[in-house]
Amino acid sequence: MPDDAAFTPVDNLARVRARIAAAASAGSRDPGSVTLVAVSKTHGADRVAALIGAGQRVFGENRVQEAEAKFPALKAMHADLELHLIGPLQTNKVRDAVGLFDVIESVDRPKLAAELAKEMARQNRRPACFVQVNTGEEPQKAGVLPAEADAFIRTCIDTHGLPVVGVMCIPPQDEEPALHFALLRKIAERNGLARVSMGMSADYETAIRFGATHVRVGTALFGDRSKG
Ligand SMILES: *Cc1c(COP(=O)(O)O)cnc(C)c1O
Repeated sequence: MPDDAAFTPVDNLARVRARIAAAASAGSRDPGSVTLVAVSKTHGADRVAALIGAGQRVFGENRVQEAEAKFPALKAMHADLELHLIGPLQTNKVRDAVGLFDVIESVDRPKLAAELAKEMARQNRRPACFVQVNTGEEPQKAGVLPAEADAFIRTCIDTHGLPVVGVMCIPPQDEEPALHFALLRKIAERNGLARVSMGMSADYETAIRFGATHVRVGTALFGDRSKG
């Protein structure tokens, strides 16, 4: 059952932004050093538009096709929107992804890196890339293993010339995320990458304490996804 009366984008955004600022300040960080990526998957373009109206400009989607249905029209109206792909990218969707997204956070295998490089050259468009790291080494989850991260990052940059700017992780559901956040931060630092995408609705303040520059927040902004 839709409950649009319960969707209060201005309040939700203000609340999340205040908590981001407080978490940043608590770690002696500039609140401006943390980018809020509003994860709009499953929510309609009307909700995205409401959040844009409240001042949000950076959005995340986990499926290329779903983003293609929502964002071209919104981007045409708001030239300053920044759209992040945060879900797994199949090689047959690379062309569409390079055309639509401004940031691709889920680069995680050599074949995908090669396809992205080819398509970026073809389209003359270079979305910034994050390498996704499977910090929990979960078999079902996307991302390179931590032990392979350094070599893969070098391959992306040196072999394929990809504009890799950071790393991203999704910690296991049932584990304390702090260890994963600390590990991801370390991988970023030793590879000279400035951006670290980690933290979701349940743990973005912890992620900020551990150095997140990008937090991906869906539920706390848009409400529950279960009603579709
Ligand atoms: C859905 C999703 C999020 C947002 O999760 P919430 O718990 O709703 O904030 C963040 N990152 C990724 C990769 C996601 O798929």
